[in-house]
Amino acid sequence: AVDLALIESRIRDVPDFPHEGILFKDITPLLAHREAFAAAVDGMSAPFRAEGVDHVVGLEARGFIFGAPIAMALGAGFVPARKAGKLPAKTIDRSYDLEYGTATVEIHADAIAPGARVLIVDDVLATGGTGRAAVELVRKAGGTVVGFSVLMELAALRGREMLPDVEPHILLSV
Ligand code: IMP
Repeated sequence: AVDLALIESRIRDVPDFPHEGILFKDITPLLAHREAFAAAVDGMSAPFRAEGVDHVVGLEARGFIFGAPIAMALGAGFVPARKAGKLPAKTIDRSYDLEYGTATVEIHADAIAPGARVLIVDDVLATGGTGRAAVELVRKAGGTVVGFSVLMELAALRGREMLPDVEPHILLSV
């Protein structure tokens, strides 16, 4: 079984980051800890071992850190989903609403073959806006979303409700 207590013990609360009144969940102590990082990658990938995942789509930036080792564990390729303007070749994009303004995520237009089986990975599910945009983006690219794997949800923000068609896999709920 995955050592959830070890994982949780390595996540640090940082008050008032990036704005006053926000309690930020800092995963860098987890990343720095050999067993905790391995346990997180194992726990986030295990449910998808028999799913025939072709690509892991990791969401910038912390979704890259978990997504790449999860792709290795699943024998899948890795596809970065980046903020607008960062990817060099032709992209497809999806915009979504933030509390103030909008954000855009992009992947390379040729990264996902039609019908490819895709697992989306990020560190934290908060309002679900980022996850929702990623799901729509993968579908727009022609991929099949087989799951959405995150380390942690901030349950009070009810991000799961944004992903009724995906059934997110969440290791820790805080
Ligand atoms: P959402 O779109 O509101 O679900 O926010 C999720 C995105 O914001 C993810 O890409 C997270 O990396 C990031 N995020 C939101 N809150 C936190 C936090 O407390 N710690 C780390 N990342 C966070």
